[in-house]
Amino acid sequence: MFTDTHCHLTMLDLTPYDGCLNKALDEARKAGVTKFMGISVDLDDYLALSKIASLHHDVGYSVGVHPCEDPSVMARATTEYLVELAQSDKVWALGETGLDYYHSQDFVKEQKDCFARHIHASKQVKKPVVVHTRSAKQDTLEIIRAEKSTHGILHCFTEDLDTAKAVLDCGYYISFSGIVSFKNAQDLRDVAKQVPLDRLLIETDSPYLAPVPYRGKSNEPKYVPHVAAALAALYGCSVEKLGKITSENFERLLKEA
Ligand SMILES: [Zn+2]
Repeated sequence: MFTDTHCHLTMLDLTPYDGCLNKALDEARKAGVTKFMGISVDLDDYLALSKIASLHHDVGYSVGVHPCEDPSVMARATTEYLVELAQSDKVWALGETGLDYYHSQDFVKEQKDCFARHIHASKQVKKPVVVHTRSAKQDTLEIIRAEKSTHGILHCFTEDLDTAKAVLDCGYYISFSGIVSFKNAQDLRDVAKQVPLDRLLIETDSPYLAPVPYRGKSNEPKYVPHVAAALAALYGCSVEKLGKITSENFERLLKEA
């Protein structure tokens, strides 16, 4: 069993499946994937995600606004609105939110405020927050700490060991994508090795960042076992065991208040 904790189900390249998402999900199920969290990036995709989730017992989704979105979209994500959207049982998390100074430093205040509102909503509905951070680790940590956020995932982790330890101390889980399988990612593997197994999650972040041996191709949930394989090699356990542990971690995270 494998859980893809972060896939953009509304953005996948479905050309190999005649445009049919169900077929892509079935392929992933054949590869052992038993759960999918579809991730929202703006406030328009949640409708499509809620429809997908209503059709599949093994699909849930998040609601939120990505920090690379336009400030006008971020502004729509008030705490009240996020709380309202997050009522459904099929909404498993808030996000993806966070800070991205790599793509833009024009709207730092808007990004920070929007991130904080996602955390406020996450606390109100008792569901974790999915955090993206790029070139902004200091401010990301500051907000997590200042808002006393303890229930979250730092997704697609690419930071250093100190950052890993700091978010783990806050109570967060750390999710690795296919990057951990890349040839040039030895530093990241050295960090990953030190993340306690019981705080580890896996994701594809599809359609981006396909793991080796599919690097450069369009990514999809069926490749998440390859992320598990890269981590299993570091921990010296079987791929199956890593898949099971990370799936159990995700279940525990969803139940935490
Ligand atoms: Zn994402």
